[in-house]
Amino acid sequence: MTKLDIYNALLAGDSPEELFCRADAERKNACGDSVVIRGLVEFSSHCVRRCQYCGLRRDNLQLDRYRMSLTEMIAAAQRILEAGVRTVIFQSGDDLTFTREDISLVLRAIKKRMPEAALTLSLGERPPEDYQAFFDNGADRYLLKFETANPSLYEKLHPGQSLKKRVELLEDLRRIGYQVGTGNIIGLPGQTVADIARDLEYLKEFQPEMIAVGPFVPQQQTPLAGHPMPGPELVLKVLALARILVPAAHIPATTALATLGGHELQARALQGGANVLMVNFSPSAYKGLYRLYDHKACVDLEKAKEIAALVKRPLSLARHDAPDGIACPSS
Ligand code: SAH
Repeated sequence: MTKLDIYNALLAGDSPEELFCRADAERKNACGDSVVIRGLVEFSSHCVRRCQYCGLRRDNLQLDRYRMSLTEMIAAAQRILEAGVRTVIFQSGDDLTFTREDISLVLRAIKKRMPEAALTLSLGERPPEDYQAFFDNGADRYLLKFETANPSLYEKLHPGQSLKKRVELLEDLRRIGYQVGTGNIIGLPGQTVADIARDLEYLKEFQPEMIAVGPFVPQQQTPLAGHPMPGPELVLKVLALARILVPAAHIPATTALATLGGHELQARALQGGANVLMVNFSPSAYKGLYRLYDHKACVDLEKAKEIAALVKRPLSLARHDAPDGIACPSS
């Protein structure tokens, strides 16, 4: 697919059924039919950054912040694994009070009890030495979204941060040996179709193992509170193009998509390139506090089963479980 093809597909009419069908066929061919479940633990809502769109930004003084203890983190992972789900994703704001040793201890404890677990971290920007230590202690995957591939838009939205650094960190992660996840946000203020085409070109070039494409969703206590959400069709188109450009990637039908258009929109994403659902396993006391954006949807295991049933596809919990006989290379 050339740059022009990407551009044309993004600009095409409102019902790009052909594009969705092609993405669905690519997904089936590369990943099979199972809807893969990942268990998510949001372990800290503290953050040192000031991302303009995010409710966790440090200037949001109205957010009730929390940190899980290391013991709570290990227990949450255990609940995920006991539910039969083999991949645990630990996510947080950029909370540097969790030291290299803290995170390493959690990883080791889980891997010791459950060596079959696949462990994903999404802790934001840390020194590469931390990434190396996490990998050495059992982390398999790292999710760090580039958010937008337009450097000036990136800098406007992330005061004190740069796209160059973000991309360097993604390269560090890959060099260390991680399966790397990355992705973008659709509907950012000032973001053009050309910017989104650039995001897709970056994905094509980097070939991540996992891609998260999500719509912008406003959060009341951020500078972007009044900015509207994008149309769902545009988000679906970007997701479908991501599948076509990176055929074997794991692509979730994100929680932000559910917030934009309900579980029906997640189901449509699963029929247009997506193959993963992230199920929230954060303890209920904390679930409502991880307010990246308002009205954040919550997908539990029951909901995930309903969504998979909607699209008439089997649910796959286990790491190597591919009932239809085809496994994504990084599952
Ligand atoms: N601190 C980590 C995790 C950030 S939260 C990091 O920097 O990687 C995880 C993701 O939520 C972000 O990468 C961003 O893409 C998304 N997010 C945050 N606020 C959002 C909003 N208002 N709308 C849509 N997505 C948002």
